[in-house]
Amino acid sequence: MTRSPAPAVYDVVDERFVDLIAPSGELEHLADGCAWAEGPVYVAAEAALYWSDVRNDRLMRFDEATRAVAEAERPANFCNGHTLDHDGVIVACEHGTRSVVRWWPGGRRETIADAFEGKRLNSPNDVVVASDGAVWFTDPTYGIDSNAEGYAAESEIGSSNVYRVDPTTGEVSAQVTDMVRPNGLAFTPDESRLLVSDTGVSHVENGPRHIRSFDVVDGWVVGGGAVWATCPAGVFDGFRIDAAGRVWASGDQGVHVYDPDGSLLGTIRLPETCANVEFAGPFLYMTATTSLYRLRLG
Ligand code: MG
Repeated sequence: MTRSPAPAVYDVVDERFVDLIAPSGELEHLADGCAWAEGPVYVAAEAALYWSDVRNDRLMRFDEATRAVAEAERPANFCNGHTLDHDGVIVACEHGTRSVVRWWPGGRRETIADAFEGKRLNSPNDVVVASDGAVWFTDPTYGIDSNAEGYAAESEIGSSNVYRVDPTTGEVSAQVTDMVRPNGLAFTPDESRLLVSDTGVSHVENGPRHIRSFDVVDGWVVGGGAVWATCPAGVFDGFRIDAAGRVWASGDQGVHVYDPDGSLLGTIRLPETCANVEFAGPFLYMTATTSLYRLRLG
């Protein structure tokens, strides 16, 4: 599709926000037609962005050189969050298989985690790989609550946790067990803290719609857990942290950008609810309900 870029719209809370966005900052609308766009990951080797259209059970691909949009996989095991491992291989959360896998274009795949203490995972939602190679992921129930984003089933574990997969032994350990529905997650640049969003308001009246900050030592959560930011509108779903430690978090209004100290710098307004973001060279890619958007950063 070809569509003229529109001037991006911002809410500037702190003047430092202005320098983060390219002055010419046009909001590019790169794709539409999705039911629930999520899980963007940029593969530099292909100069391509992959993302999930969760409710249509497909994996999409945007080619930066040609701007072509294509289905990469359909069905796609109701994939959701994605990241890259240290070898540049895609790591995918799959509701359909209730697992976290390594995935290569063309279909080769390898399971990273599908159970905890002998019980099937709920439906892994989002994932990051730490510098030591450990795979960390959230496991809420959205992919088993109904058939809309997976296959309806009872939770075998009975709670929604954050897990770490040991890079050497493959052992799955529960690192955060007191959230309602953990969702997006990211480490600070020095990996001293893990931020995790909780979208539990979907299941509990007046429930969580915030990001919490956990202290990490030697690759393990050792404490913390205070609320770090509360979403101004809707819920924080996925988010990424830039090299300076700023948090770029999705929400109903678009993308909220936070200083490392937790203060809101500004909001990139999108015409649709944003579910996740990805950095790629000079760009910020944003998956938002039906669409893929892109903005050039400062
Ligand atoms: Mg998510």
